[in-house]
Amino acid sequence: MNLDNQTCVVTGSSRGIGRGIAKDLGRNGANVVVNYRSSEAEARAVVESIREEGGEAIAAQADVAKPDEVQAMREKVVDEYGPADVLVNNAGITIDKKFENMTREDWDTVIDVNLGGVFNCTDAFYDDIKEAEHGRLINISSVVGQQGNIGQANYATTKSGLFGFTRTLALELAHTGATANCVAPGFVETDMLEEVPERVQEKILREIPLDRFATVEDIAGIVRFVASEESSYMTGQVLGVNGGMEW
Ligand code: NAP
Repeated sequence: MNLDNQTCVVTGSSRGIGRGIAKDLGRNGANVVVNYRSSEAEARAVVESIREEGGEAIAAQADVAKPDEVQAMREKVVDEYGPADVLVNNAGITIDKKFENMTREDWDTVIDVNLGGVFNCTDAFYDDIKEAEHGRLINISSVVGQQGNIGQANYATTKSGLFGFTRTLALELAHTGATANCVAPGFVETDMLEEVPERVQEKILREIPLDRFATVEDIAGIVRFVASEESSYMTGQVLGVNGGMEW
């Protein structure tokens, strides 16, 4: 699963799952674009660590919810590495509240980043992916998009929305040979999981047959496979990486 000279843009890769994906792709030969919104120091540290391991990476600031910033990021990528081959739509946020307490602003903010951001980034890199030899659109969803979750109506909606988006893009891209797939992680040890109260974390853990939360490396290895040439005949799929959770 060699990604030599493949330019891979990973949104939200200054921390968490995105950071794990960026480092893994960098270790396997890709030119990695480490996108972030505000965590500049963390993004630079990811770039540094990829370079220390002999890989190639740049940091690129852009709030994925802002089309002009995403477009500027694409220009930076093209100047540095040429058109992108792989886009990993990973950036995501939560604002957790039961629906009865959720405001329209809570709803819109999560939709703007988790779905609006996917639109903006896919729009900016669409022609690149279409024209790449092994173009890949990879959307990071969640088991929460499959099961729903108390306190996450806004978030779950964005994560299930990615299933229809991915399936449609897979059909629309198919004639070009490029693929579109979703990776749907279960619960992963990141800052996002740390925001979940401990008693809820314990309850979740009881529902995971493999009896542990995922590490970012568990997710990154699957994303690397989807990004690679080896996955060329797989498109429109949802890969559940959730320790055996039912949905
Ligand atoms: P995280 O630790 O909170 O990290 C989020 C990353 O996204 C950060 O790098 C952050 O950068 C970036 N980001 C947030 N808003 C952004 C924006 N508007 N524009 C650009 N970048 C932005 O989250 P995570 O747990 O790694 O989650 C990553 C993805 O995996 C999300 O899509 C999430 O829904 C999904 N997921 C997570 C879990 C889990 O259990 N953790 C499970 C299933 C799916 P800044 O710090 O610069 O803002």
